[in-house]
Amino acid sequence: MHRAAKVVIERIRALGKISDEQGKLTRTFCSPAMRKANNLVASWMKEAAMEVREDAIGNVIGRYVAGLAGRAEDEAKVLLLGSHLDTVRDAGKFDGPLGVLVAIACVEALHKSGTRLPFAIDVAGFADEEGVRYQSAYLGSRALAGTFDSKDLKRVDANGITMAEAIRSFGGKPDALSATKTDRKRLLGYVEVHIEQGPVLEKNNLSVGVVSAIAGQSRYECNFTGRAGHAGTVPMSMRSDALCAAAEFVLAAEHYAKRSSGLVATVGRMEVLPGASNVVPGEVTLTLDVRHAEDSVRERACLRLQKLASEIAKRRKAQVRIEKRHEAKSVMCDRRFSRMLDKIVKQHQGKSIFLPSGAGHDAAAMAAITPVAMLFVRCKGGISHHPDESASAKDVRMAIEVMNDFLTELGNAQAQQRPNANRSK
Ligand SMILES: [Zn+2]
Repeated sequence: MHRAAKVVIERIRALGKISDEQGKLTRTFCSPAMRKANNLVASWMKEAAMEVREDAIGNVIGRYVAGLAGRAEDEAKVLLLGSHLDTVRDAGKFDGPLGVLVAIACVEALHKSGTRLPFAIDVAGFADEEGVRYQSAYLGSRALAGTFDSKDLKRVDANGITMAEAIRSFGGKPDALSATKTDRKRLLGYVEVHIEQGPVLEKNNLSVGVVSAIAGQSRYECNFTGRAGHAGTVPMSMRSDALCAAAEFVLAAEHYAKRSSGLVATVGRMEVLPGASNVVPGEVTLTLDVRHAEDSVRERACLRLQKLASEIAKRRKAQVRIEKRHEAKSVMCDRRFSRMLDKIVKQHQGKSIFLPSGAGHDAAAMAAITPVAMLFVRCKGGISHHPDESASAKDVRMAIEVMNDFLTELGNAQAQQRPNANRSK
């Protein structure tokens, strides 16, 4: 096995043992497990000759300084790499840490060969992406991007601890979050390696793929109200069964999404009232999640699905109320970076595909201030957010090699742009 890939896998296993819950992997924002994880990742960054700091929200960031002949380091552009170190509850080991550890492996390779690039590399281990503790995603990357909403500091976790208190006890500075904001003028971009969390690369028999866009998403809560009644005495022809209306809508949403390329629509939760075996359901509340890489397609789908819900309710003499709970626009990945990745991936595995990301990532938050790109790594069975989540050493090796070449190529391109900033070796 390639040594660097072996080290990455060993480190992923080591991080996988650092958990807030016994017997399963759960690492949430500003928890004792995150403290241990940050310290361990910081020690690996230092081994790779990086200067390490922890910012006001608890992101651990290592810097590999640029090689600028005779120029001040603080003039150098910065390429940001990384991913998140927090996890969902009962998580897999690869979601997040893979991107941080591949980035450290690439810096380690540069350090070992004595190479400095005409830009600095920052590797970020973000403090929160999954949002388990405060139901608010991308806390780490939003703080870095300067889009953190300070109202969030008042949120409380399940134990009544405010976010501000949690950050403070972690060693962060909730009152100085605005200072964490990175200098966007110096940023070249953000590139994230992440497991695919889906089955597309495996189906195509490919180790890695280039992300075209991060899908936008809309989440709704739909409430169907019919008329509850006795399951034995109300004839079928005289019912307004809220669950039958909801069930028809679930299948209609599935049918509609199947006919539109790339569109996904999911009803993930349903609550039936009164919820008794001998009562006709009077009320059903369900969630609808709609995603597509193109906002116009998603928006059209949402309008159509709302119309379908109304038609179904009307036909069944029921009512439907639909409320939007969340909306995020899609993020297009940077064309220049993505083309570079695509070319390098082709050189390494003979074939490269672009694929959209249906899941959100730190790259979506960083896109607010800088060009972003992502490289997906095949994951076994497409399984993620589950202890069985896994990527092979061969595929991790491929990701490291692609990213090594990407850094070299970007270094060459930058050196050409600024002839004074020699690539030193
Ligand atoms: Zn992730």
